[in-house]
Amino acid sequence: MTSSMAASHSVGKVAKDVIFGASAACREAVDKYGSAKVTNATIGAIMDDNGQLACIPIVEKVLRTLPINDLISYAPISGVPDYLDMTTSLTFGDHRPDGYTAAVATAGGTGGIHHTIWNYTETGDSVLTSDWFWGTYNMLCREVGRKLVTYPLFDEKQNFNIAGFTAEVDKLMSKQNSLLIIINTPAHNPTGYSLTETDWSAVLDVCREHAKKSDKKITIMVDIAYIDFAGEKNETRKFMRQFSDLPDNILTIFTFSMSKGYTVYGQRCGAMIGLSSSKEVITEFADINKYTSRSTWSNINHGAMALLVAINKDTALQKQFEAERDALYQMTRRRGAIFMEEAKACGLNALPYKAGFFLSIPAKDSAAVCDKMHDDLIFAVPLKAGVRIAVCSVPTDKMRGMAVKVLKALHSA
Ligand code: PLP
Repeated sequence: MTSSMAASHSVGKVAKDVIFGASAACREAVDKYGSAKVTNATIGAIMDDNGQLACIPIVEKVLRTLPINDLISYAPISGVPDYLDMTTSLTFGDHRPDGYTAAVATAGGTGGIHHTIWNYTETGDSVLTSDWFWGTYNMLCREVGRKLVTYPLFDEKQNFNIAGFTAEVDKLMSKQNSLLIIINTPAHNPTGYSLTETDWSAVLDVCREHAKKSDKKITIMVDIAYIDFAGEKNETRKFMRQFSDLPDNILTIFTFSMSKGYTVYGQRCGAMIGLSSSKEVITEFADINKYTSRSTWSNINHGAMALLVAINKDTALQKQFEAERDALYQMTRRRGAIFMEEAKACGLNALPYKAGFFLSIPAKDSAAVCDKMHDDLIFAVPLKAGVRIAVCSVPTDKMRGMAVKVLKALHSA
């Protein structure tokens, strides 16, 4: 008797969900002790200071009043043209790099990452990202027969580890003719780090050096899922100018997501924006990614695209939306600042959080540390190299005093 019907490449696939496990433990504690006593730092979505899932008010209003045909009709495979124009200009703000661009609508940011891995790497190739990374990257690579490898994100002074990055790129480029590099910035998940202008300049120098060999190809995918919670709009996009006039054999792809930026996580709407000095590379980008969309999910959520268009085509509405989103950003900023100030005061070694939904604390046995934190009814996510605290989901008053408790758990684990 066979115990598996799965094709050989799919045998043994189980999505290990540490976040689900942590939030299940948290729910149990809430049932036992009441939500006022429990701190849930596991959720990757913004919860307001009353512990409720936050929705940007104008997003709810516009979504509920969209014409039914915008919600139920098929959308073009590549996406609604206005949506593609708007996601492109929203991605770049005032810092649009010189070069050709094209956009393709995707099922969330995840969809764009999937297409990038599939269309810009060879079967069996290694894809490079930092050692602190969003676990889904690994699954996305493995699902299509690629391998995720990492470089150390920080050096011993907790600066971007350009030496570690360079060494890994050198190694991979000696083995592969093409390389996909995934960089999640600004407001990286899970550390909250944002590459500086200097970091980016050094990263691009390394890529340019390898691109001098005409038989080599490099794709840099910038995962900007958290960009709208990273600081002032044009300040956070300044680095994008550096991508102007890169050689033809370097392609840049920005993966845009409405999940966080519009607080519509479950609507599954995003876009991938390709940038190149070569017109042919961008025509190919639009063609091959449209093809992959047709052959994976067909077209994507029409209503969510209509929502983004409705908000951004009306200047007054757009202003109101940005102000309401900024209020959420300021709330996450305050929460992060409380934790980081207290961490500094008590000597807890938190990674250099700049902004965003998450911050992390290195730990050898992160599961044991998280277990110890349960004594104080604090629930966080144990990652391979440390503990992830979801700043986005913890009410401001519950952030106070948390750093000391994490330190205590670290010492006693
Ligand atoms: N990239 C990172 C680092 C993320 O953490 C997420 C969501 O958690 C995404 C991309 C994409 O999310 P979505 O597919 O919901 O747009």
